[in-house]
Parts: sequence; structure tokens; C-alpha cells
Amino acid sequence: MPIKLFNLFFLTVNLAGTFQSEPTLSVTPTAGQGEWFSVLIENYEEREGRDARFQVRFLTLAEKELINRQSFPLRYGFGPAVQAFVIGTYLEWPPGDYIVEVKSLRTNWIKRETVRITPVGYPSAELRLDRALTDLITAPDPRKEEDTREFWRIMNTYEPFAAPLLPEFVKPVVDPHRTSSPFGVRRTYIYHTGRRSVSYHWGVDYAGPTGTPVYAPAPGRVVLAKSRVVSGNTVMIEHLPGVISIYYHLNTIEVAREQEVQTGTLIGTIGSTGLSTGPHLHFEVRVHGIPISPETLYKDLLVRLPQHYLSPPAPTPAVAPAVGAGE
Ligand SMILES: [Zn+2]
Repeated sequence: MPIKLFNLFFLTVNLAGTFQSEPTLSVTPTAGQGEWFSVLIENYEEREGRDARFQVRFLTLAEKELINRQSFPLRYGFGPAVQAFVIGTYLEWPPGDYIVEVKSLRTNWIKRETVRITPVGYPSAELRLDRALTDLITAPDPRKEEDTREFWRIMNTYEPFAAPLLPEFVKPVVDPHRTSSPFGVRRTYIYHTGRRSVSYHWGVDYAGPTGTPVYAPAPGRVVLAKSRVVSGNTVMIEHLPGVISIYYHLNTIEVAREQEVQTGTLIGTIGSTGLSTGPHLHFEVRVHGIPISPETLYKDLLVRLPQHYLSPPAPTPAVAPAVGAGE
């Protein structure tokens, strides 16, 4: 997914009559269905203060609100404050133009940009389920309902001022494996009774021998590590506010809730627990609850910061100490 940032810069006059630079909004101009794009807010300290808060909304052209949350400040070592937001493009949102709106929660600053969602062709598949797997999906079970409630509780727990580091994602499986089902497959389940239901595959499946190590693909904090009815042994890791990776059907779980992990931390092993027909890892990533293609994360940073944030500023001759003076 090529990322190109539009940088727009404006000047405005505040009530005191002096010039104040406006915050700069940079938005990735296009994203495929089931992918993601980032929003970057810079140069806001003068007008909004270092602890500025911004509301980010994602809207259709007809002003239907799809997302409404707050951006988060990034911690990257040095340089001016910068805030970011990541928007997952739901696979079923129709291709076309959409609106990103960023609004200060402190002043009257507001700005909009257009983003184009481009079509992505996702495959279809039929899956025949035997009686045991049919029952696992269709039988009413209060534990399944509690699993679902807990899942959405975690997805909606959102602390925009957690000030996280920018994560870079790598594949969570490095030992030999194959991709047994890609992201976004439109699956028709055919139950043993002949009844059918349709759902999307919200992750990517990596099939490998039971016991194959599964590693954290990026730094983060474990927000769930337990056995669930349908997804079996499950781990969830929060990487940025609202960005959560999910691991299903593990044979063993090697981390605990609230544990901080780094890229490469062993989090579990491939297994076939829960609704599974053979040993594989179901790897899913959600952004504010919206599933995105996990493999797009290996190709690009979630938020691409301009170079001047990533290297220390070079000392300027005007402030460098005089060479050789008085020695
Ligand atoms: Zn899967």
C-alpha cells in the first residue's frame, strides 16, 4: 500500500491579532477495502498546547458517521509533539470518496480531507461442518455470549493518552508454515443439517505443525490471554490505542494478561483448539474494532512519520561551540 502524505500549511490570525500557525493535517489519500490509512496532526502546540485533544471522525459524503474517536499523541524520543490516528477501512464499505474530519476539542480549529477507498477483490469459499463443529457454532452457550461481550469490551476500551511507541509489524510465525486461508474470504458455512450461514474470514490463517512458536509481531500489552469457546486458546495484544492483534486456536498460551511484549516475544504455539479443523494460527488485527488485512502491516508502518522526527536534529553552526578556542 503506497503511502503518500499531503502536507497543507495555513496561517491564521488569533484574537490578539498575532499570526499563529495552524495545525497541519496529513492523511493517506487512498486505501483499499479491508485495509487502513493514517492521519497525522503536526504543528499544533502553538495554537492548541502540548496536551491538545482532537476528535477524529470518518464520514461518508452523505455525512453518515462511521468512526468517532480521539487521536493519540506519539512518543518517539525527541522533537515536537505529534498526534496520530489509524482508520481501518471496513471490507464492506463501498469504494469511493469519504471524509476525514479532525476537530480540536479545545479551540474552533477544524479541518477535513477526502480519502478514497479503492475496491479489493476478496475470494469466496464454502466450508462443510460436521455435527461437532456445527454445534460449536450454533448451540446456544452463555459462555460464548460472555466471550463476545468481553471481546467488544476490550475493543472499545480506548485510552488515547497512552502515548505509545510506533510499532513496526513482522509476521508472527517464522518457522515453516503455509497460508491456508487469506484475509477477507467470504465464507459460506454448510452445517451438517444442510443449513447455511455466511461470514467473512476476519484474519489470515497460517497452518503449521502443532507446537510451532507464535511470536509477538510488534511491541504491545497483552489485553487477553485465556481459553474461549469458539476461538480456543486466545491471545490479544494492544499495540496502539485501538489497534489490537488477535491469535486464535493456540495449543499453548505463553503470556499473561497485562504483560508487556516486544517484537519476537513468544506468546504461544500453533494448535487446533476451539472451532478448528487442523493445527493453524488464526491471526487477526482490528483497528477500532474493524478487521484489517494483517499482511498489509508487514509492508508499511501504521503511521509513517516524516524523516525529521526520526533522526536527531543536526547541530547548527550558530549554536555549536567554537572549535579550538582557548585550548
Ligand atoms: Zn482463520
